[in-house]
Amino acid sequence: MLLIANKEAWPGFAHTVDMLRSGANSLDAMVAGIGKVESEVKVRSVGYGGWPNMIGDMELDAAVMDGTTRDVGSVGAVPNTLPVARLAHEVMKRLPHVMLTGNGARRFASEIGFPEDDVLFEDSKRVWWERLEKEVAPEDLAKFPNIPLAPLSKAITDPERVRDTTVFLSADAARGIHAATSTSGWAWKYPGRLGDSPIPGAGFYADSRYGAAACTHTGEMTMRCSTSRTIVLAMKLGYSLSDAIKLAVEELNELDTGFLAGVVIHAVDAKGNHEVVNFRCEGEISYWLWEDSMSEPELRAAKQA
Ligand code: ASP
Repeated sequence: MLLIANKEAWPGFAHTVDMLRSGANSLDAMVAGIGKVESEVKVRSVGYGGWPNMIGDMELDAAVMDGTTRDVGSVGAVPNTLPVARLAHEVMKRLPHVMLTGNGARRFASEIGFPEDDVLFEDSKRVWWERLEKEVAPEDLAKFPNIPLAPLSKAITDPERVRDTTVFLSADAARGIHAATSTSGWAWKYPGRLGDSPIPGAGFYADSRYGAAACTHTGEMTMRCSTSRTIVLAMKLGYSLSDAIKLAVEELNELDTGFLAGVVIHAVDAKGNHEVVNFRCEGEISYWLWEDSMSEPELRAAKQA
């Protein structure tokens, strides 16, 4: 068995490991672990600790993928709801659809008993408003949010400083390889913006026969390159895990228009190998690893692309 997740997974990683050790289904184990990440306000990018969109509303994205059946459940730009990875799992289990967004996702949440919750942490609200006070002229601030938001979008979006996602990838005792993600996306994003975390093929992909991948940071790049699917497809075509990631990095490197910044790729193959690669993100990136030969999870450093 194997579990990897990015550094932000710390509140839930050990819980997922315990559930895997006791034989739980690994998607259930990852969703339960992510639920703990989502409720920890110290994680400033996911769930309660995350960041609102440009008009101060929390819109959360999450997904799960079963690599054995290739079933996916996904929710995007969901208002007033936690835990969203569990909501994505319920989409997979209960509906003939893959993805719900916005008010439809909220409606479904109510139907199956998720409480309404504005999910807006006081400190996130303060930081959100202080930034607007700096960037928006007083006469516009008085009318806010009834002003054109698009011109503000470039000035105010600050993905490098305040964003991240939690991603989990597992290989379980039943040889299933699965993926799960959850995020509040970019801080000050335009309302309705979806990142890569709910998009199968971009922010995550899993196929138990070959492996799985999940990305964090600049969703605007991985959506353009289908980065997670590229990695799993390359392995299907015979590439090693490292070569599959190199191919995906080459594709990211080819982009020279649009919003360009860093991407972190997490990937596993069906032989039990894993790699986490930092493409252009500043600072050291680390991730959690647990294999069944380990008594405790370990924090490891990602490789530079
Ligand atoms: N990839 C996420 C998004 O684009 C954000 C992140 O991981 O930093 O919404």
